Amino acid sequence: NELKMTIPALSVNEGSCRAIIADFCAKLDPNIEELADIKCAVSEAVTNCIVHAYAGRGGAIYITVGLYENRKICIQIRDRGCGIPDVRAARQPLFTTDAAGERSGMGFTVMESFTDGVRVRSKVGAGTTVVLFKQLSDRAPI
Ligand code: ATP
Ligand code: MG
Repeated sequence: NELKMTIPALSVNEGSCRAIIADFCAKLDPNIEELADIKCAVSEAVTNCIVHAYAGRGGAIYITVGLYENRKICIQIRDRGCGIPDVRAARQPLFTTDAAGERSGMGFTVMESFTDGVRVRSKVGAGTTVVLFKQLSDRAPI
């Protein structure tokens, strides 16, 4: 099964992205913890599109969610914003380009710790794609 959606990169839409993606993933019957993990990771990736990629000026966020056999989930969150010059550096804990001191530089670290894999592809001036992988545990027999 697959969900595709495009949504403006506005902070009012962050909660909608999180809720819609979580609802879609719920078809695989994740446990409460797994669902919370997915919400957290999605929230970080979407927030980065809003605050960094388009620097609050808006643009489109392109989201694809794939639900696969063996209870695997793949969530792709893409923007056509400013891009990341050095992805390796950006992924380090506490790395932030925010000068206002509002951000802690922990977004990618959160995505990594709440999923089973994070892939980042980015090109300066073209945009960024973040792919979040989640392997759900086997359902306990009732
Ligand atoms: P926090 O997420 O803790 O509020 P943060 O957003 O700065 O702080 P990360 O989410 O780890 O920290 O991102 C690290 C850095 O990578 C950001 O400061 C920003 O420079 C860059 N970055 C992340 N996502 C994007 C994106 N989609 N487009 C452009 N730059 C990005
Ligand atoms: Mg962030």
